[in-house]
Amino acid sequence: MDERAARIADFIEPLRVAPGSAVDLARDFDPRYKAGLKKQDGVDLLRAGVALLAEYQERLAAQNTYGVLLCLQALDAGGKDGTIRHVMSGVNPQGVKVSSFKVPSTEELDHDYLWRYALRLPSRGEIAIFNRSHYEEVLVVRVHPENLVRQKLPERARGKNVWKRRYREMNEWERYLTDNGFTVVKVLLNLSKEEQRTRFLKRIDLPEKNWKFSAADARERRYWDDYQRAFSEMLSATSTPWAPWYVVPADRKWFARICTAAILAHTLMDIDPRYPEVGEEARQDLLAARRELEQEAPSGAAADPYAERHPSAKGGRRSGHGRPAGEKRGRG
Ligand code: ATP
Ligand code: MG
Repeated sequence: MDERAARIADFIEPLRVAPGSAVDLARDFDPRYKAGLKKQDGVDLLRAGVALLAEYQERLAAQNTYGVLLCLQALDAGGKDGTIRHVMSGVNPQGVKVSSFKVPSTEELDHDYLWRYALRLPSRGEIAIFNRSHYEEVLVVRVHPENLVRQKLPERARGKNVWKRRYREMNEWERYLTDNGFTVVKVLLNLSKEEQRTRFLKRIDLPEKNWKFSAADARERRYWDDYQRAFSEMLSATSTPWAPWYVVPADRKWFARICTAAILAHTLMDIDPRYPEVGEEARQDLLAARRELEQEAPSGAAADPYAERHPSAKGGRRSGHGRPAGEKRGRG
């Protein structure tokens, strides 16, 4: 397992924004990077990543101590939906909560700007995914300042330091969450302008994709450079040791998916959730319950059909401590 963890850590390291570094998205990150892999490698890697996530998510839920928040940001057609669908395809839906954040409602605008995100945080044992996140508050809100006007902020909360202050507030909020058992990890799906153009055209050309395209998406594209600047500043200011940003190359969907799966897997491996072990008292209860159940065996049936079929199973019997005298398995 340690070897697997080390391989994953190496794989995602080039994508991580070093805390404190000044990032220029266009200069420092290539949307077409694929780590020398081929699409076929991607199929196997994604399958392995999905299996790993399923295993860790089960442990996270069983331990019920930690939670994970994955924030996904991208420009339109960046592939957030497909990434979520593929990366989470193997995990138990009961342990995952996906929330999409759109233009805020009147009720949401009547609260502080982090309120609606706080409502959708994971509980212990859960993985929450934010499809768009509180980072919209320094992205779309910054690129289109009329959004800030709608937030009805008091004078001093919308002065010229507003973005710096928001970075600090979000860093502190994430620190608070981390300190209390909720790990935050952030992924920007980094799409090139040309790949976005291609994907938009596909959505227009194929009738079954038309519903995915809106004229607003094309309008937003005109603000490309403003978004790149806002992304760069956001990455520089809010990639922290406790809640790092990863910039995932998104021009190849298959590569974006394995990267995101690897980042989430790395986060879970770092938490290293464990199945709870029962204490001595609870173990005695288990043994008593087993004796009772074994006595209920109908004639001709094994006392413990499960143990009969799985001779190596030791559930309830302390492994390596032998079995108390007189307690015999499979009698019946
Ligand atoms: P898709 O298009 O794949 O369904 P989407 O996330 O783009 O997914 P849309 O309904 O198209 O969903 O767009 C949501 C819109 O809401 C985006 O344009 C986004 O910028 C905007 N938005 C999100 N958060 C805020 C916010 N806090 N203030 C203003 N606008 C926001
Ligand atoms: Mg959209």
